[in-house]
Parts: sequence; structure tokens; C-alpha cells
Amino acid sequence: MLVRNVDDGDILRECARKPNSMSICQSEHRYLPDLEDLPESQGGEGRHKCAGCAYEKGYDDAFENRAKSFDPNSLNDSQAGTGRHKDVEAAYDLGYRTGSKRLRRDQP
Ligand SMILES: [Zn+2]
Repeated sequence: MLVRNVDDGDILRECARKPNSMSICQSEHRYLPDLEDLPESQGGEGRHKCAGCAYEKGYDDAFENRAKSFDPNSLNDSQAGTGRHKDVEAAYDLGYRTGSKRLRRDQP
């Protein structure tokens, strides 16, 4: 479960604010433009998961200096948006890279 303190209105943290909405993802991050460039999912566990949630999870893990720990079962399902049918593990990696960059920028 993505339950943790939320310190701002960052769109990327939308899911963390709604820990009980663990089914169909309703977050605006479904429409993140970054997700459009991700590869299509080839099926498997992550196929109907929200790539936005995966991206957000990767971002948070990197930004909070945690090791990568991708788990598709922890993600919300997705029925719409740019994150639909995307490779959620690639989304997680993208989020992780973005979070790492942000972390370095904030801590020069
Ligand atoms: Zn989501």
C-alpha cells in the first residue's frame, strides 16, 4: 500500500493520498505525457496496472533514497489514460531515474 505522508500537492503523489482507492486508478497521472513514450506491455502481470502509479512509486523510491523494489501487485489498475497497457516496469524505471535526477538537483 502506498501509505505515507504527503507534503505537497504534487500530481505524482495523487495515489499516495488515496490509499483506499486500490482498484481502478483515478489519478491525473494517468495522463502524464512522459508515459506516452513507454513501450507497450507485452502482457503478463502488469498489463492492466497503472503505469502512472508505477512511475510514482519509482520516483518516490529514488527520491527517498530507497533501493529499487518494483512490485506490480502493489499498483492500482488502470482503465484509461496514457498509462494504459504500458510496460509498468519501464514506467517504474523511468520514475526512478526522474526521482534520482530530482534528488541530485535538490541536494547539490
Ligand atoms: Zn495510478
